[in-house]
Parts: sequence; structure tokens; C-alpha cells
Amino acid sequence: MCVIFDFIRRVPDDIIVLVDEAYIDFVEDETYPSAVQLIHDHENVVVVRTFSKIAGMAGARIGYAVACKEMIWYYNNMVNFFCASGTALAGAEAFLDDDEFRTRTRREMIKGRTYIMDELRAMGYEPYPSQTNFVACDMHVDPLKLTEQLRQKGILIRGNLGVPRMTVGDKEANHALIQALHEILQGDN
Ligand SMILES: *Cc1c(COP(=O)(O)O)cnc(C)c1O
Repeated sequence: MCVIFDFIRRVPDDIIVLVDEAYIDFVEDETYPSAVQLIHDHENVVVVRTFSKIAGMAGARIGYAVACKEMIWYYNNMVNFFCASGTALAGAEAFLDDDEFRTRTRREMIKGRTYIMDELRAMGYEPYPSQTNFVACDMHVDPLKLTEQLRQKGILIRGNLGVPRMTVGDKEANHALIQALHEILQGDN
């Protein structure tokens, strides 16, 4: 049984469990379940999703919550109705109407993630499994130093999380990342 489902079953129902599904659109593992199916039997479960990743709308500050009716009623009485801008709402609506865009973005992201992971393996590293839009991989160097070396080549990664964390970009950006890693780590040109 999936760990999160098992966890939710054990939590007393007067405690709210918030499940963050920010990366749900990038999941390839077909056995990975969404917690949305639990909201009927578990009124204490709130699932949140964002348009920041799959819709490319980071900065627009828009997302949504899925929960049972009663929970949503509480939400509606608590939130500030002016918290989402008209522009953000229009963008979110356009995204929800565009299945083609979602499918293409998802496909390209998974292709890019696979490419980066395969290239890292070919270089002798072992990236962590990923169902998200980023790849984490220990490259046996100081992550902060690597981050700075990449920054000088115009590539931004997260280096302050223990192991370097690289967000998947478009084809060109992914190529540039791998090329730069070759230059920095293996002295290639
Ligand atoms: C991106 C992200 C979010 C949501 O980001 P917002 O821009 O605030 O909508 C939430 N959780 C995780 C783990 C994320 O990576």
C-alpha cells in the first residue's frame, strides 16, 4: 500500500492532512496514486495543486485545492477573495482548456528529464529517481562550488540542498547543462 494513503488512514480525522501535488503532472510511475480519490472517505484531506510548474505560470500565484464540500466551505469563509489576480485566473482557465498544451509540456519535460538522467549515468553518476521536474544527483564535488561554476556559464541550479538539484528545461537548456557539466567535471571542451 502506498505510504501516503497508509499515513492518511492512521491520522485521526480531526487533524487536517494537506497533500501537496505540485508535481503530479510529471509523474510517470503508473502506480502512483493521486490523493484526490481519498477526499470522499476522508473529510480531513486537502489536496493542493499549482499552475506554477506544468502551466509554466510560476509568479502568477495561482493554484487550487480539492477537498470535501464542508472543507471547501471553511476555505471559502477564510480566504481573501482578492488573493488571485484576474490575469492569473485567465491564464489558469486558458491552461485548463488546453489539453494539447498540457500533454506536450508533460511529454517534453519527461523526455528532458530522461535525457539529463541518462547523460549523468553515462558520466558515471547515479541520479536520484525523479517523478518531478528536477533531477538531483551527487556529482562528488562541492555543490556550492559547482553552482557557482555553472552560474558563470549562465546556468542556474540549486546548490544549497545537500546535492545539486537541476530543473529540467527545454531541449536547448538541457543540452547546455550537460555540456557545461562535461566541461567543469571532466575537463572536456
Ligand atoms: C512549486 C511548488 C509549489 C507551489 O508553488 P507556487 O508557485 O507557490 O504555486 C508547492 N510545493 C512544491 C513542492 C513545489 O515545488
